[in-house]
Order: sequence, then C-alpha cells, then structure tokens
Amino acid sequence: MTQSRDTRPRRPGGRSKYIPKRKVCFFCRDKVTYIDYKDPALLRPYISDRAKITPRRKSGTCAKHQRSLTAAIKRARHLALLPFTQIHIRKTGGVGLKS
Ligand SMILES: [Zn+2]
Repeated sequence: MTQSRDTRPRRPGGRSKYIPKRKVCFFCRDKVTYIDYKDPALLRPYISDRAKITPRRKSGTCAKHQRSLTAAIKRARHLALLPFTQIHIRKTGGVGLKS
C-alpha cells in the first residue's frame, strides 16, 4: 500500500513558480576523477566564509563528487591547508590584522 503523504500545498497555477537553473557539477564537466586535497585553490570555492563546506544544493556538485570533495576538504583541513572555523581564519589568515 503506497499512500501519498505529500502534504505540500498545491499551487492552482500548476507548476511551482521558482525553477532554479540546472547546475552542472563542476567536476563532472571537467571529467575530474580524483579531487586533490593538496590543492586548496581548488577546494576554496567549496567552503563558505565561515569555513563550512557548501551544501550540494548550493554548489551544484553531484553526489559522487560531493563525497570525494568533502573527504578532500577534511584532509586539507587536517594538513592546515584549509580552515576549520571562522575563528581559525582570523587566527591564521589575519596575521597582523586587528579588528
Ligand atoms: Zn560530479
């Protein structure tokens, strides 16, 4: 028995108003098979200003690449190539900067 439990309100106008642009995974497009964790420049766009890993819905990365990307980011963090937190950014990146 499969009962539909979709309780989302149905728009009378038919399809939903906001249709986001289909993002193509950057790594799929470039046919990347291995994401290098030693390359912070490559990983940098996938972390937010608060050093969080950008979610898939935002970055458009596919599930497969998102997995290898997160692993790469975590490895890079361990090697101090990427920050863990925003405080971390302030401590390491903002040397001599007083705010
Ligand atoms: Zn991909």
